[in-house]
Amino acid sequence: MEPKEFKQERTLVIIKPDGIQRSLVGEIIKRFENVGLKLVAIKMTIPAPDFIEKHYTLDPEWRKTTGEKNIKNYKDKGLALPCDDPYKIAEIVLNNLKKYMSAGPVIAMILEGAHAVKIVRKIIGSTEPLTSDVGTIRGDYVLDSYEMSDTDGRAVRNLIHASGSIEEAEKEIGLWFSPKEIINYQLVQERILYDINLDGILE
Ligand code: GDP
Ligand code: MG
Repeated sequence: MEPKEFKQERTLVIIKPDGIQRSLVGEIIKRFENVGLKLVAIKMTIPAPDFIEKHYTLDPEWRKTTGEKNIKNYKDKGLALPCDDPYKIAEIVLNNLKKYMSAGPVIAMILEGAHAVKIVRKIIGSTEPLTSDVGTIRGDYVLDSYEMSDTDGRAVRNLIHASGSIEEAEKEIGLWFSPKEIINYQLVQERILYDINLDGILE
């Protein structure tokens, strides 16, 4: 990766329908602005269930890894498994996600900056709000768990989606945004964040 590209890493973030309904849009975007990331694209939309399926299955391994992760979670908690086929479990998770993510408006955005993917994942916290760290968005603003969402037969409400890797980000950005929706501009603060000797001249 070229040094310039490194500072222009991009990630896709979606504020899920519960984030909108909880009036947390400003609070969530503030966290990303505070850390120094730059918003280069943003839109509000109500995604169709098929579009959500596409989003989650951009990674051909998603069904396998999600099913296996789910089985491990059940076993770790000593809970009875609905079945032991990871693909069947992933299908249940996917159907719940399709209902959840298309239930109302969402806000999709692209954030740009050094280590954008990892920095955003750190700020949002781990997947299940019950166990996400205090100080993270999922840890501080919601109280859901796999146990409660599974009992109620719905997806876990964790407010936000963010790409898990640079490759995932590239695929997701391509699905959610066309190149002309992405704005190339400079933020004043980039001088301080990235300038080598703080003299205001970008090397
Ligand atoms: P994320 O990148 O942190 O959102 O997590 P993943 O990409 O691993 O999973 C995507 C979504 O699938 C999550 O937001 C959850 O809604 C759901 N999911 C993932 N793992 C599990 C699990 O073990 N149990 C349940 N019930 N849902 C899960
Ligand atoms: Mg993910």
